[in-house]
Parts: sequence; C-alpha cells; structure tokens
Amino acid sequence: MNREWPGNENGTNAATRQAGLLFNRLLRPNSDVAIDFHTGTTGLECSDFIIGNRQLPEVGTIIDLYPIRQVWDTPAYPGILHNAFTDVGIPSICPEVGAARILDATLIAPFVEGTMNVLKHYGVVAGSVGRTSVDANVFIGDNAFPVIASHGGFIEHLVRLNERVSAGQTVVIQRNSFGEVVAEYASAVHGEVGAIRSDASSEPGNVLMFILFKSTPAGSDGNYPE
Ligand SMILES: [Zn+2]
Repeated sequence: MNREWPGNENGTNAATRQAGLLFNRLLRPNSDVAIDFHTGTTGLECSDFIIGNRQLPEVGTIIDLYPIRQVWDTPAYPGILHNAFTDVGIPSICPEVGAARILDATLIAPFVEGTMNVLKHYGVVAGSVGRTSVDANVFIGDNAFPVIASHGGFIEHLVRLNERVSAGQTVVIQRNSFGEVVAEYASAVHGEVGAIRSDASSEPGNVLMFILFKSTPAGSDGNYPE
C-alpha cells in the first residue's frame, strides 16, 4: 500500500482502493501534521533517520525537533504516504526507527523524545522542547548511494551503520562457500552508512548498503556530480 498513496477509491486493485478510502475519509480531513513511523525492512537494518523534504519550511522545523543522527532530505517519490500528505499541504515526515521486527529501546527513545518535542511545538502538550537534531550532531544528506550485489555469496561488512565512508573506500567483501573472494564493493561517494544488509548471504541484485550523501557539498558551485 505504501506505493499507492493517496490511492484511488475507484482504482483497479484492492490496495489503491483501500488507500484512497483511508486517505480521503480518515487521514486527510483529520490531520494538521502527519508522522508516518517506519522501520527498516527484513534483511536490511537502518540507522535512526528521518525522510522528509526540507525544502518545505515546516517540514524542516519538525525534522529538526528530533535528536536523531541522520536525515534524508528528499521529496521522496510518488506513492509514499508522507509524500501524499505534503502534496495536499499537510506537513509530514517519515521516521525510520532502526531494524525491522525488533524493539530497539536505544533507537525508540530519541524518536519518542522528538515526537514529544513536536507535540510541545504545536501546543498539544505543555512543556519545553528537549534535545534536538543539533544535539545529536545530525548528518543531512539529499541522496542515497546503493551498494548492490553483483554476485551471490556470503557478505562481510567492513564498515558499520552511521560510519563515515569515503569515495573509493571498500565497504563490503563477498565470498563463496569455500572462502574465496568473489566480489569487493566500494562506495562511490563521501557519506555516512544509513542502512546495511543484516542477512549473512546475498544473491545478485540485493542492496548491501545505502550510503547517505550530499550531492551538493557546501561550497560547491551547485553542480550535481552524478
Ligand atoms: Zn520506510
């Protein structure tokens, strides 16, 4: 369903009809601000990060109220729920709270703190704002470089989540069942590891790592390197 928002009540598949009903009749008419909590996905663990479009001033304000370490500043792409909200003028973000299918208390806490900050910012609850993104030394990227497996085999990560990497740095080694190296993968960008494959093996085509990076580094002339 999270590729179907805002959906179509008269669409040709069940997911888009359900999305359309929810969006038109429940979510949109009742929301001033929307936060769509996510986690990573099966086999792909992610850092504490928020996806949102900082070109929208109110979205930037909300993001900065979270004491988390990474922000992916992007308009995202059509079909995603927080994108459907911003398309109709409702500020919205998508926090990604670490790995899928586990409760990671150390990652949940800063998102609770940030969400309480948002509620205080809008006067829903009383109190002063606590720690924010500045306190977490947040890294803001506007693009994510995917490291994609070209071979099958066991994978060994040479870097960890949130680690800084450089362009050209080898980040993953892949071996066959005999221990022979079948592939080495390098980052093409300077950035920070935002997501990392948690399964021990991979077939060709899987994402092994996402590296969050800035496509317009401070001080550049604004040309996109890719
Ligand atoms: Zn997500």
